[in-house]
Amino acid sequence: MSKYKLGILLGDDIGLEIVPVAVKVVKAAVKKYFNIDIEWVPLPIGYVAYKELGYSLPKETKNALYSLDGWVLGPIGHMAYPNVPECINPHPILRREYDLVSNIRPAKAQEGVTCINNRTDIVIVRENNEGFQPDRNMFKGSSDCMPTPDMALSLRVITRRNSSMAARTAFELARQRNKLKKVTAIHKNTVFKLGCSLFLDACREVAKDYPDITLDTCVVDTFAMKMLMNPENFDVIVTTNMFGDILSDEAAGLVGGLGMAPGLCVGPKYCMAQATHGSAPDIAGRNIANPYAMIMSAQMMLSWLAHQKKDIEGIKAAEDISNAVASVLKEHTSVTPDLGGHASTQEMGQAICTTLLV
Ligand code: ATP
Repeated sequence: MSKYKLGILLGDDIGLEIVPVAVKVVKAAVKKYFNIDIEWVPLPIGYVAYKELGYSLPKETKNALYSLDGWVLGPIGHMAYPNVPECINPHPILRREYDLVSNIRPAKAQEGVTCINNRTDIVIVRENNEGFQPDRNMFKGSSDCMPTPDMALSLRVITRRNSSMAARTAFELARQRNKLKKVTAIHKNTVFKLGCSLFLDACREVAKDYPDITLDTCVVDTFAMKMLMNPENFDVIVTTNMFGDILSDEAAGLVGGLGMAPGLCVGPKYCMAQATHGSAPDIAGRNIANPYAMIMSAQMMLSWLAHQKKDIEGIKAAEDISNAVASVLKEHTSVTPDLGGHASTQEMGQAICTTLLV
């Protein structure tokens, strides 16, 4: 019996609609596999938690997460939070606290979804906890500072540890995907001579453990163009935080936009399913949000954990979700308005569950 203990953290706005749908899909997928046992643990987070418990990231939630294998986190609408210390954006804290070093963001063209380049099937692995992101890259203080009113300094942090961990995630994925068997490390060592060279050095070191996978390198600006023109030349991409942030949104644009962009943050002990898109307050409460990215983030979590536990049934259940989602998108009768359909969030989720259960 393979046991999983997974958290459900709804988040804000459309999170309240898409997270329950994603959980329902995973539950439907594992139904026919008798050796999978998932314990689901709902935990408060976000604005609802602040209103009810006084904190957007309650201590009880933080403590409970340590006992889990992973969790689904809905989008957080922190831009609308009151400016008080009890109501903070939990994202960067969760990514740091649970050492979620690699952010895996696939971009895959799907039949039935209008997109710029239907040959796209890539995965970007972005280092998650350092780089230029000042909310994560310092032990204390901020790396975004102003020595004078007319000068701002932003400091980028690159470590061998996190670079190696992100690279290892990329190589493992290239092996699992079994496609081009290639990892492309994206850098700008022509300018960032120390930071990007350290990152590349870490990637080359990790590559020695994967003789079956080729390591390629590309300068970030050249890659931004090549990915648009010939995405089929790439398989798994690994890069530092801010390059990855920008390139993964560009990749999402190639396959139909942010609604089509799932994500999984992983570290040595935990993983967190988190779609790339925000909480979309403009469409919240209307049951029209596209649940694809949230469902596929949860699918990635199941797949990742099942590979770690060497759980064949879990791997199969995750593949079943991908196939059911692809079939509903292709059929196009039960898709949300952003994909050109008329279905509600719930209806699209139900169509995926029905496909899984036949
Ligand atoms: P954040 O800064 O928190 O990442 P954002 O400002 O990038 O958020 P989003 O909340 O991602 O913005 O929304 C951007 C646009 O995309 C909005 O018009 C929103 O309605 C739309 N959008 C985002 N996610 C979805 C979704 N799952 N389904 C349909 N539309 C979406």
